[in-house]
Amino acid sequence: MQTAIEEARRGLAEGGIPIGAVIVHRGRIIGRGHNRRVQNGSAILHGEMDAFENAGRQPAAVYREAVLYTTLSPCVMCSGAILLYGIPRVVIGENHTFMGEEELLRARGVAVEVLQEPACIALMRDFIAQHPQLWNEDIGVGTEPALADEERRVAVEDGYRVWTRSVGGGAAAERPALLILHGGPGVPHDYLDGLAALAAPDRRVVFYDQLGCGRSDCPDEPGRWRLERFVAEIGRVREALGLDRVVLYGQSWGGMLAIEYALARPPGLAGLILANSTPSSALWGAEAARLRAELPAALRAILARHEAAGSTDHPDYQEAVWAYYRRHVLRIEPMPEHVRRSLEHIGQPYGVMWGPSEFHITGNLKDWDRSARLGEIAVPTLLISGEHDESTPAINRVMQQGIPGARWALLDGCSHLAHIEAPEAYLKALREFLAGL
Ligand SMILES: [Zn+2]
Repeated sequence: MQTAIEEARRGLAEGGIPIGAVIVHRGRIIGRGHNRRVQNGSAILHGEMDAFENAGRQPAAVYREAVLYTTLSPCVMCSGAILLYGIPRVVIGENHTFMGEEELLRARGVAVEVLQEPACIALMRDFIAQHPQLWNEDIGVGTEPALADEERRVAVEDGYRVWTRSVGGGAAAERPALLILHGGPGVPHDYLDGLAALAAPDRRVVFYDQLGCGRSDCPDEPGRWRLERFVAEIGRVREALGLDRVVLYGQSWGGMLAIEYALARPPGLAGLILANSTPSSALWGAEAARLRAELPAALRAILARHEAAGSTDHPDYQEAVWAYYRRHVLRIEPMPEHVRRSLEHIGQPYGVMWGPSEFHITGNLKDWDRSARLGEIAVPTLLISGEHDESTPAINRVMQQGIPGARWALLDGCSHLAHIEAPEAYLKALREFLAGL
């Protein structure tokens, strides 16, 4: 299996789909390969097929004593090849991200073993999140041509520019664009890349890195980071990209920003998705204190000591913070690559506006509270959050009761990055809401 994983990684490094396979005969590798559909423009070179091809022509007696290792559950095509050549045993890295024809193989007498290897799951989960289109093409869904995908820099204030990416669009009649507001403040959009799966010819999905993080300009000007400028920035981005009608999706801080923007009743706002968010910093802080009280006493002591001493940069503090994050921010390991990229590039606005951690709020958003004004939100609204989310059910209940007609999708077993933890359920809830807009 290790060799199959090496093959998968090789494929990824070539810009391809990370699936590898190895055929072993009497303890010796006779063929190894990886998915080369992208690299070779091939219609059939899945990892397993590539391994068959590289093994060359073999007598039936060899196949009948061979074992095929593959990092991912084999599709109907590859299962067909396995049955055709009478391979008696298949060892599968994982069937978490894709369930192939294991039942068919078993029904035909093949011994099938599934390892649920974390390395295999991580490779595919990261890849699917970042390249949903390529993956759909690989398994024969969504055969339409690739969507438009354009990056552009947009001028905001004082000559600074923000980076934007627009996916989809181009249909004769387009629905309102989905404009994505990332969290933080200052956590670049990368961790939300999976939402590109919602793009279609009639629906643009637009990402941007807010000023101060990611690929946007990052001036070292702590005084600049105030709520008002981020609200104005949304208007600049909409204007520059011609987004006359939008549904605003805001994750965490992005949801706070979306609430603030919606309260100004801007023209062309067709709907709101408030994901893992809050209408009030104080409410967030109170719920965070409650969750924090559930941590082991030793960790709580470390947190309190460093917060009192102002030494929140200390590695012990950061380590204790992660104990909380593993419960309430991201409950899966290993952390997907695009999430890591976001968290390793948090910009200056986070410390200035929020604080040293998710639950220790010291920044200029400390007193932000719009819970009494939620009734003024006059557009269709979807709330989405996780069972263990730091945006707790109590917080979302306040929003559901406050915003007229708001719907709420609460995802079992999930936390703050529910879109990473349960992507299918998450996207389904968003699709259902968007279908009406
Ligand atoms: Zn296949």
